[in-house]
Amino acid sequence: MEAEEERGWRPQEGTRPKMIPRSQLRPRKVPPPPHCPLFPPRSPTEEQESRETRLRVVLRVRPLTCTETRRGDQHVVHSLGNGTVHVSAARHDATFTFSAVFDAGTSQEAVFEGSGMRQLVELAVEGLGPRLKLSVSPSFSCTVFAYGQTGSGKTYTLMGPLGQGDAPGLMQRSFSCLLEQSCSTGLALSASYLEIYNEQVRDLLSAGPPRPLPLRWSKTRGFYVENQLSVDFESLEAVVELLLQGSQRRRTSAHALNGHSSRSHAILTVRIRSRAGERHRQRPELGGLHDGAGRVGCRIAASPHNVPPQPGPGKQGTLCFVDLAGSERVKDTGSSGELSVEANNINRSLLALGHCISLLAKPRGKRTHIPYRDSKLTRLLARSLGGSGVTLMVACISPSSRCLSETLSTLHYASRARRVTNRPMANRVPREKLLQTLEEEIQALQLENQSLRQQLSLPRSREVPGAWPGWGGRYGPGGLHRNPLEEELPAEGAPAWPSLYGLLRDFVVENEQLRYRAHRTHEQP
Ligand code: ADP
Ligand code: MG
Repeated sequence: MEAEEERGWRPQEGTRPKMIPRSQLRPRKVPPPPHCPLFPPRSPTEEQESRETRLRVVLRVRPLTCTETRRGDQHVVHSLGNGTVHVSAARHDATFTFSAVFDAGTSQEAVFEGSGMRQLVELAVEGLGPRLKLSVSPSFSCTVFAYGQTGSGKTYTLMGPLGQGDAPGLMQRSFSCLLEQSCSTGLALSASYLEIYNEQVRDLLSAGPPRPLPLRWSKTRGFYVENQLSVDFESLEAVVELLLQGSQRRRTSAHALNGHSSRSHAILTVRIRSRAGERHRQRPELGGLHDGAGRVGCRIAASPHNVPPQPGPGKQGTLCFVDLAGSERVKDTGSSGELSVEANNINRSLLALGHCISLLAKPRGKRTHIPYRDSKLTRLLARSLGGSGVTLMVACISPSSRCLSETLSTLHYASRARRVTNRPMANRVPREKLLQTLEEEIQALQLENQSLRQQLSLPRSREVPGAWPGWGGRYGPGGLHRNPLEEELPAEGAPAWPSLYGLLRDFVVENEQLRYRAHRTHEQP
């Protein structure tokens, strides 16, 4: 496995150079090439944000299964290093290049680190990071999707062997990463989980028999699922439990190629919000329920203990894991009846996805209409494919000679996906809304300060709560470098209330930063 440097576009070998008339030899303005495939630059500037970024496509080759080995299947896929893979069989000899290739011996951890998954998690979180850095950098809608023939290792790569903790997949590793950041930076995390089964979107987290959910479109949100349940989580155990529950509800069946074949596409979305602006309200308990976008008034069901979180300061990153059902030939799987109806629906939606990818692989100027509306899957992936998200595709293949034609088809599909470009856009909120939430945040922090002061029997702040935007006293922008409580608090390290001291100081400094930021935002034209 080796990360690949992007190679840019080479002319096709064997084509004769065309004679170009002299008049056309004038220098032309060449558009900048798409950005490196490993996601957009981490810069807050909108100009760089909206630069084209190629989909990052990595390949995972699973080991031969016991049945394949017993049968004496040949290895037809060989990793050549440097992100290149070679397929050699009787009448086939082809080489493909990806951003990285993970061969049969690659561990789950190496896939997480080498695929760029960690960077993807960071991009989903970035702008929501430490509260004092609010809005300094953008956070994106990030998606990873696993594609490949049924039984090629998609679910294994994303989730590992579920219920056994020995080889957690990309999902669990990403959750750990997110939770680490949420502890240190005050992020709120929630998860929703749905499947697309026979062209119906169904919630995998709500109780009772799966019921179809409407898929809608709005100018601001694009395609979205209405009334989807979202559950807050604060620990790895809690989110893995959700994943387990949802996966048990997901439609699976046994057939000739996979004893536990997924019959639906599953999409797990983690929403990441900053807790700023929520702290003065009742904190959601673990397992709190709310609608997918964390909006008030769209709650589906909640017990008195499950309080829906209010919108934070308006920024939200998302991390989406898409476990596609595998493409399959009905004659290879021996499917009939319901199984074959499912297989046809799976193949039809994968075909629609392939069609969109083929069209998106053309240069932007030559693209025609992209038929996202052809399937529920392509509608839900519209932002991730050719849209404003950041996307990683993990193509999964079997090395077995018996799977050769499906393997070649996956490799061609994945190669086309490498040419798809997105224009990542940060999830931003309108300025007015940001101002309003900052104002609320300041007031909330002032109240908290006040109550902490009371608990510590400290003198009242000279600052009048709610005085923004006319503030400008000793805590104004000019006074930002001073600790405003220097004269009033006991010296740090003093025996009394050392932890409360730190807490109080943090709140005050944070108040100052937020005031300063609100002031600057207000002043900007
Ligand atoms: P898919 O989701 O593509 O249909 P699965 O993830 O269910 O396929 O994998 C099919 C079988 O192969 C499972 O038994 C799984 O445990 C095994 N498998 C897949 N990838 C690997 C791997 N990298 N290492 C070990 N076993 C694997
Ligand atoms: Mg699967």
